Amino acid sequence: MSEIAANLALVRQRIEAACRRVGRAAADVELIAVSKLQSAALIRQCHAAGQRAFGENYAQELRDKASQLADLPDLQWHAIGPLQTNKARYLVKHAHAFHALERTEVAQELSRRRTGPALRCFVEVNLAAETSKRGVAPGAIAGLLDSVRDLAGIEIVGLMCLPPLAAQAEDSRRYFRQLKELASAHQLSELSMGTTSDFEVAIEEGATAVRVGTAIFGERPASIEP
Ligand SMILES: *Cc1c(COP(=O)(O)O)cnc(C)c1O
Repeated sequence: MSEIAANLALVRQRIEAACRRVGRAAADVELIAVSKLQSAALIRQCHAAGQRAFGENYAQELRDKASQLADLPDLQWHAIGPLQTNKARYLVKHAHAFHALERTEVAQELSRRRTGPALRCFVEVNLAAETSKRGVAPGAIAGLLDSVRDLAGIEIVGLMCLPPLAAQAEDSRRYFRQLKELASAHQLSELSMGTTSDFEVAIEEGATAVRVGTAIFGERPASIEP
């Protein structure tokens, strides 16, 4: 078994255990393997171990990897990083979902360029009003939803967050809980929350998608450029 296959198996076991603790079905939690800055070869190993959903932060990297890995069956790309309007074209062709929607202009551009099935979008919420973080303030969710509601080609399915860096996973719990309350208040059913440091807590609080990189691939290289 490759190291990645072993890591993946362990993460899946931890997801199942977290689900069991709160009486959820493991099938209701999607694992997105965050492969940003990791090589296409490692993604191949992970795919060989059964993983199908991969997360990328940078639109051009997503596009490049999608073409390098076009031979892999059923591979699903999730764009999870902030997106500039002029980069939307790099992901509309390949992405299954976009987890970091925060601006109407980006939604309009995605809508204009998307062909095929609707791009599943999550609104990123900046829960702790951190200046270093992206996302809309909780009070701005309704306005953003109103402005994108009628756009073709995209569908808003849920909310996403990246809580403040914390010493312990437990510290993220109140943010995950808050994201769930906000999603319910806006009639959204999906929650993209939890990373290597806190995905089990996120699942206990209702995550429907967890974005896990380091626990699967190991530490990220600073860059994949030579
Ligand atoms: C990098 C990243 C992740 C994965 O982080 P890990 O700590 O490696 O699990 C998840 N979500 C977003 C938005 C990221 O940028």
